[in-house]
Amino acid sequence: MYSMKTVEDIRGLFPALQQSVYGKPLVYLDNSATSQKPQCVIDLVDGMHKGANANVHRAMHKLSDDATALYEGAREKVRQFINAPGRENIIFTSGTTASINLVASSFCRKFVGEGDVVLVSGDSHHSNIVPWQLACGAAGASVKAIPVLESGELDMEAYKELLQGSRVKIVAVEHISNVMGIVNPVKEMIALAHAQGIPVLVDGAQGIVHARVDVQDMDCDFYAFSGHKIYAATGSGVLYGRRELLEAMPPYMGGGDMVDTVTFEKTTYAPLPLKYEAGTPNFIAQASLAPALEFAQSLREGEIASVVEEQERSIIEYLKVALQEIEGCRIYGLPQRGDMEPGMPGSKIPVFSFNIEGCFPSDLAQLLDKMGIAVRTGMMCCEPLMARFGVTSMVRASFLPYNTLQEAEYFIASLKRAARMLR
Ligand code: PMP
Repeated sequence: MYSMKTVEDIRGLFPALQQSVYGKPLVYLDNSATSQKPQCVIDLVDGMHKGANANVHRAMHKLSDDATALYEGAREKVRQFINAPGRENIIFTSGTTASINLVASSFCRKFVGEGDVVLVSGDSHHSNIVPWQLACGAAGASVKAIPVLESGELDMEAYKELLQGSRVKIVAVEHISNVMGIVNPVKEMIALAHAQGIPVLVDGAQGIVHARVDVQDMDCDFYAFSGHKIYAATGSGVLYGRRELLEAMPPYMGGGDMVDTVTFEKTTYAPLPLKYEAGTPNFIAQASLAPALEFAQSLREGEIASVVEEQERSIIEYLKVALQEIEGCRIYGLPQRGDMEPGMPGSKIPVFSFNIEGCFPSDLAQLLDKMGIAVRTGMMCCEPLMARFGVTSMVRASFLPYNTLQEAEYFIASLKRAARMLR
């Protein structure tokens, strides 16, 4: 499908990677925030705006049929990609945040009451904390967190204890931390929760990008992710849900397309998945999930797969050593075992957050920017995790298969230069 034999071939498919910033070739290391887009996604978006631009599901005309086919085709692609049993399990949303808000609101309205508890992982992104706080506030329930160990891994003993005795109604856990890049043992965590009859939502914003996701094998009840982090257009997102729960929960938003019949007295709702898709969806962005996921799949399964794996492994090993060699540098999140296969529980993906003594993260990022390198700084939407490590900010460099080992080396050389300038 795509003829990619080298990392340069992959890079050649991304127009944004060809640009220079401040006269330097762009080294884009802010991939955990959003990915750059391959030409196939750009072509789909452009082509739909020029051709199949009509509202989906509504009209009896060719353009609407074409748009609907592309929208529903993307749903089928998502279903295959995560091995969901059916199309009714795949709800299109605007992203991970919207997916988690949907579950927090609808699930808590139905199943959570006074004195109940929602358990979230201590490495959670704000979008896996605040929606639960809002919903718990309305229900008279509370949010509790699974503690994070010094290594960045979740404290599984504490998790087991938290599941016992208290009135936990749902667990919401990060698949992979967006700060530390550690893959949490979600399958084990789900089995432990299910043993107590507690459903589990997995925040897969990073997991979908860096691990193979099979929702039936994982046995999660909900899996949330954003399209824009896995090469699709911004504004696309997915909520996978177990059918029984999606059936039992009330709709999240009301409006067009989510109804069966409407009278002023009473409304009945459309069958899944449309029950949760009120209003005109971002149908072009959602449709772009099809080429995006095909592209992601070809990186994992095509002839390029071994090159991608080898490169990822060498970038992780290189950065672990090179960052720690910088005087005063602390990496947040180094799993206790260093030998796990990338993507497996307890492994680290190429996401490195760190601080260098005597340097403000924002100063480092500004200097790196002038050298052509885009990194992220700040709290990374994880203030409680920052507090856990006693800091208010970190620098994060995050990699995708289009990033080269040479870029990682240039990043380290530039970081050393920037640190020297600041200290
Ligand atoms: N969870 C995690 C782990 C994330 O990394 C992000 C994005 N940084 C989100 C949730 C929120 O994703 P979005 O902004 O696309 O809704």
